[in-house]
Amino acid sequence: MSVIHKKVDDLPTSVGVSFAARLAFEHVEHAYDEKPVLNDVNLVAEAGEVLCLLGPSGSGKSTLLRIAAGIEPQRAGRVMLNDREIAGPSHFLPPEKRSIGMVFQDFALFPHLTLLENTRFGLTELSRKDGAAEARVALARVGLSDKVDAYPHELSGGQQQRVALARALAPRPAVLLMDEPFSGLDSRLKDTVRAETLAILRQSRTTAIIVTHDAEEAMRIADRIALLKDGRVVQVGTAETLYHQPVDLFTARFFSEVN
Ligand code: ADP
Ligand code: MG
Repeated sequence: MSVIHKKVDDLPTSVGVSFAARLAFEHVEHAYDEKPVLNDVNLVAEAGEVLCLLGPSGSGKSTLLRIAAGIEPQRAGRVMLNDREIAGPSHFLPPEKRSIGMVFQDFALFPHLTLLENTRFGLTELSRKDGAAEARVALARVGLSDKVDAYPHELSGGQQQRVALARALAPRPAVLLMDEPFSGLDSRLKDTVRAETLAILRQSRTTAIIVTHDAEEAMRIADRIALLKDGRVVQVGTAETLYHQPVDLFTARFFSEVN
């Protein structure tokens, strides 16, 4: 752990800080064709917290992230960013205007672009020069200053994850969404990458919603956990609450294998 802390302390702290926002799902419903996948979801990520969406495969976690990001418009209900409706009956804000960043499960890096170009990708509103400068700042924040001209295939899985994180954080989003960000990593790397990611999130002061199907992982990284089952939020609370005071057998079983 000491090695991790040293690395993290080396990251610059005064640049690239976001302003965290509160993100709320209100009575959100969704279906694919006629198949319901989200059912009256009411859930808040408070400003600056790390909220884990935990649940088995198919419970609707990724769909909820895509709705927040604006890449999957929900069938009913609304999504609020602070006091602003960003998706709902009266308003739909396009993804690029939401101040919400996303790290995809497979990182979705462009293989033919350098790290600098990959990171600059979300900064389309800036000039080429300013975009490059901001991208360098973002890459420095994840400790990859010396690799700006490298290509994704030249990096380890953990480093690729950090590029995806840099690209998502470069526009200084108010909320960052991460879909199973550690699931593709070698188990030996996972602890290190998790600790680094958390430190970067704390420094960025962004609100983070992290999807995982791994109860132990959620307990390690989350300020609060929302447990989903069949498109419904079963329970929300701290790891301690879900572990010691499960509301039902489903929650109890989900946490029973964690020591
Ligand atoms: P999770 O991320 O928790 O595994 P998803 O949000 O990906 O869950 O999926 C929820 C349900 O919706 C699943 O039953 C899945 O098969 C279905 N689903 C997800 N995406 C689509 C899609 N694009 N078209 C049709 N069904 C989908
Ligand atoms: Mg998923």
